[in-house]
Amino acid sequence: GQITSRSDNLVEKEVILPFSDEASQTVFGGQPWFEKNEVQGRPMLIYSKPVFVDGRVIGALQVARSLDDYVQSQNTLRQILIIGSSVSTVIAFGIGWMLAGIALRPIDRITHTAQAIGAERDFGRRVNYIGPHDEIGRLTTTFNEMLTELQSAYRQEAQALQAQRRFVADASHELRTPLTTIRGNIALLQREPPISNEDRIAVLSDMADESERMSRLVTDLLMLARADAGRPLRSEAVAIKPLIEDLCRKVKVLAPQHNIDCADLPALSVRGDEDAIKQVLLILLDNARKFTSPRGRITVSLTEQAEQVAIQVRDTGIGIDPTALPQIFERFYRGDVSRTGGGAGLGLAIAQTLVKSQQGTIAVESTPGEGSIFTITLPKAETPQRASEPVAAAVTQNR
Ligand code: ADP
Repeated sequence: GQITSRSDNLVEKEVILPFSDEASQTVFGGQPWFEKNEVQGRPMLIYSKPVFVDGRVIGALQVARSLDDYVQSQNTLRQILIIGSSVSTVIAFGIGWMLAGIALRPIDRITHTAQAIGAERDFGRRVNYIGPHDEIGRLTTTFNEMLTELQSAYRQEAQALQAQRRFVADASHELRTPLTTIRGNIALLQREPPISNEDRIAVLSDMADESERMSRLVTDLLMLARADAGRPLRSEAVAIKPLIEDLCRKVKVLAPQHNIDCADLPALSVRGDEDAIKQVLLILLDNARKFTSPRGRITVSLTEQAEQVAIQVRDTGIGIDPTALPQIFERFYRGDVSRTGGGAGLGLAIAQTLVKSQQGTIAVESTPGEGSIFTITLPKAETPQRASEPVAAAVTQNR
């Protein structure tokens, strides 16, 4: 425990280096010892080394070094780290916020567009995106594509709804006309004193005509409604030659004065629905009969094209004005009302719907004063599976 010698700086400051029990035990056990301790309030690193004489520890040599620099560097480093990490956290947060904002801006635009569409029903809007084709880019493209689909579906629905409204209005109007006549005639029959026997017969005949017109109209409307509802038609091989011949025979019975030519047809088959094909041909033959004088001629011909069979119904009747041609397939379109034979203007609309449902086409060429040619094409069938059945109903009843 005795100090034998001290360096000058220790003497000057009257410093005694600490020598703990643990240090003493280790050093006198022959091992060196390091420790950190405070000397006069300053941190020091103290090294104690045993001094050997003849292999025996006779004392300890102590060397101490101030840790001021070290502690100061540590403090400075701590401060730098605390301030630096806080500042860099704030900067990183700011940059992250900014980057997230830029990256998510298209999503923000998608949200705004979706909200605007919901509020205004404007499906014409699109999200503008200029950038890489990454997840956001793909999302924007998909969103815009979805809007295009929605827009076209919405437009189609609006058009269908409008067409339906027009159809219902036209149908009601058409049904009201015969009903008004019938009601007027009933009022005549109820008159006191009663009308003459001759007038009564005329009134009843009028009523019968109007009822028949109405029931024809209802049949046509029902047929169109079914076609609109997408009622599936059969798709089978139909031998077309016997079917046309049969129909021609029926029309000849109804219009004996007309010159109807259905001879020399080739034996071809089409793929479609036999009843629907009969219906279409009846409409065309009935129109040809209505708009051709008995001196004229009605011809049905059958030709084979690549994968199609063309059926032509030609007449030498009054023809159709070129300005009316684009409208004749529209529902309720009628030309010269005095010559339509009481038709409601639904025949060609029905024919077109039925032909289209069988993957066919219908077209018309016409010269006023010379006649008209209606051409239907239907997919060709290789082998007829069954012969046509005889036509069950007369033309007017079918319509
Ligand atoms: P409807 O059922 O009243 O007969 P359509 O739809 O069949 O009506 O025909 C519409 C209109 O097309 C007719 O009113 C007529 O003006 C014209 N049309 C159709 N077929 C012929 C034809 N063969 N010759 C002249 N005009 C025709």
